Amino acid sequence: MTGVFRDLPGQDAVVAQLRRAAAGAADLLAGARPGGGVRGGRPPRVGEQSAMTHAWLFTGPPGSGRSVAARAFAAALLCPSGGCGECPSCHQVFAGTHADLLLIRPEGLSYGVKQTRDLVLRAAGKPIGGRWQIVLFEDADRCTEQAANALLKAIEEPAPRTVWLLCAPSAEDLVPTIRSRCRVVTLVVPSSDAVAQILTERDGIEPARALAAARAAQGHVGRARRLATDASAAKRRADVLKVPLQATSLGPALAAAATLVRTAEEEAKAVTEELDEPEREALRRAFGEGSSGKGVAKAMRGMAGAMKDLEDRQKSRATRVKRDTLDQALLELALFYRDILMVQLNADVELANDPASLRKLAASSTPEATLRRLAAIMHCRELLTLNVAPLLAVEEMTLSLSEG
Ligand SMILES: [Zn+2]
Repeated sequence: MTGVFRDLPGQDAVVAQLRRAAAGAADLLAGARPGGGVRGGRPPRVGEQSAMTHAWLFTGPPGSGRSVAARAFAAALLCPSGGCGECPSCHQVFAGTHADLLLIRPEGLSYGVKQTRDLVLRAAGKPIGGRWQIVLFEDADRCTEQAANALLKAIEEPAPRTVWLLCAPSAEDLVPTIRSRCRVVTLVVPSSDAVAQILTERDGIEPARALAAARAAQGHVGRARRLATDASAAKRRADVLKVPLQATSLGPALAAAATLVRTAEEEAKAVTEELDEPEREALRRAFGEGSSGKGVAKAMRGMAGAMKDLEDRQKSRATRVKRDTLDQALLELALFYRDILMVQLNADVELANDPASLRKLAASSTPEATLRRLAAIMHCRELLTLNVAPLLAVEEMTLSLSEG
C-alpha cells in the first residue's frame, strides 16, 4: 500500500472508508469553487454527502492505530492529490507542523474546560491553505464533563470548513451526545502476520523476529516495533515474564513484586525524562533566556509562571505514564497466564509467548489455578485504578500467584 494510509496494517475496511470520505471531501471543495459544477445553484455542505462529514470518532484497542488513522485522514483531506504521502502538505501533517492541523494530545489525566474553550475558538478559524481546518484530538475520552459540553457545542454548530477528528478507545468512552454527532471509524486488532509484514517491509526487521515481536505485542503495532528494535524494552518484558517462575513462596513473591514495580517505574522515568527536558528547553528559548535589556525582568517573571505550569503538566503526565507502564506489565503477565491456560486446555489459538516457556508451568498446575491467577492479576489492575499504593497491590497479586 502506498500514500498516507500505508502504516495501517490489517485495517483495509477503515482505509476504504477514509479514502471514500477524502474523495467526497475533495468533491465538496471542487463544488464550492466558482464554476466548480454546483448542482441546484448552492454549494454542497459537509455532511450532506454520505462519504464526508465534519465530526469523526476513531475508536479501537490500544496500538491498533487510532491516531495513525486520524493523522492519515487529515493528510488525505489537506493534500491536493488526496493523500499522496510525498508532497509538502503530507510531510507537514506527519511532522505535526501543518498550519491547518491542530494536534491535541492531553498530557495529564484529564483535559479541562478552559483548554477546550480555547481550542474551540481556534478551530473556528478559516483554513489558511483553503481546504480544511482540522482538529485532531487524541484521547478525547480524557475530557472532563464540562470540557465535553464545550466540545459538543462546537461539533453541533461547526464552522463550514472545520473537521473534528476525535480518538478514544471505544465509542462508549465519550458522552452519548458527542458520540451521536460523530461518524465512528472502528479499527480492529490487526493480525500478527499483518503487523509482522509491515515491520519487515517498512522497518527492515528480519521476518522471524518481526513475527515473534508481533505475537508478543498482540496487534499493538508500536509495541511490536519497540520489542523488535529496542533491546531494553525486550529485556523489561523478559523480566516481567520471570515473575511466574519466581513467585513460588512468600519471600520470592514479595521480591518479585518489588522488582515488577521498580521495573515499571524505571521504564516510566526513561519515557518521561526524554520528553521533559526538550519541553523545558523550548520554553526557555521562547522566553529568550540569557538575553538582556529593557523588559527582560518582566519576561523572566512571565517565564517563571509558564515554567510552573509546564512542570505541573509534566508531573501529571509522569503519574499517568507510571500507571500505564505498570498496567502494561500486568497485561503482559495476564497474557502469559492466558497462554498457559490455552496450553492446558489444548486450545488451537495463536500464542503470544514462546510455547517452550509455557509447558513446564502448564503441566505443574490446573486450568482452575490458572483462572484464579488471572483473576488475581485483574483484581490488581482494578486496585491500581482506585489509587491503591502500587507495591501493596502488586504484593497481594504475587502472593496469590504463588499459591498453588
Ligand atoms: Zn500529498
